[in-house]
Amino acid sequence: MNNPLFRPPAEADSLILQVDQGCPYNRCTFCGMYRGVQYRRLDTTEIRRLLDGAARHAAGVRRIFLADGDVMRRPFAELRAILAELAVRFSDLARVNTYATGSAIAAKTDGELAELRALKLHTLYLGLESGDAETLRRVRKGEEIETMIGAAARAQAAGLRLSVMVLLGLGGRERTREHAAATADALNRMQPRLLSALRAIPVPGTELYDDVRAGRFAQVSERGAVEELRLMVGRLELTNTVFRANHTSNVVPLEARFPRDKAVLLEQLDAVLAAGGLDAAGPGPQPLWL
Ligand code: SF4
Repeated sequence: MNNPLFRPPAEADSLILQVDQGCPYNRCTFCGMYRGVQYRRLDTTEIRRLLDGAARHAAGVRRIFLADGDVMRRPFAELRAILAELAVRFSDLARVNTYATGSAIAAKTDGELAELRALKLHTLYLGLESGDAETLRRVRKGEEIETMIGAAARAQAAGLRLSVMVLLGLGGRERTREHAAATADALNRMQPRLLSALRAIPVPGTELYDDVRAGRFAQVSERGAVEELRLMVGRLELTNTVFRANHTSNVVPLEARFPRDKAVLLEQLDAVLAAGGLDAAGPGPQPLWL
């Protein structure tokens, strides 16, 4: 494969199989992952060749992550065929995980979701990004909040695990409060088992980056990002969720389990804000990977 490979941090130990190239949507203004990559689904012959190589080098693998951007977008029959082939070739395989958009999940029937689960599809990584419809519209997410919430409910009812990602600062200064509140509300309705809060970083080559440079998008400050997270966490009512905000984009690395650690998490955030060391004027230092 010649395009860059992206996978969630939790998939570091998984065998990554790039059965697709790029993202079928590829229009979110904040996302630079697959810019310049022409979306393409590998055909059956190419996938067989990919699996031949993988089976030779990683025969005992237990976890597989299917890349790239929205493998769940594939028609059900194709997904079923890929999962069935994986089960045959990797006898120790326990779970197959992938990125999924809400609309791609919604396009599958309940029976299809259950069948995919039976074929060891396990965790779906879904980028909610924001629960605020106006923020999603501005960043051209191309997904409806109600669709994502409905998809989350149906996926979980089928036994699939849901890992949801949200992006702090995605509404900019203008919508920080709306973004925080509406995102918490959407998460409360989704009740994901895993939740990751990353920070929206304007990456060169994206429209968000251009908007920041041109003064069309005012980024939340470093302090503002923590205040936004404080607001969001304060409103979260999650019954069984592992929460992580420990990506390099985050101002302070945090990890907690809801509902048990909510009060401690709020105390930690209050302590960070009270310490007064954060940049209240600008976004703070850029992550090292930029
Ligand atoms: S955020 Fe997801 S859906 Fe949007 S362009 Fe990037 S990979 Fe595609």
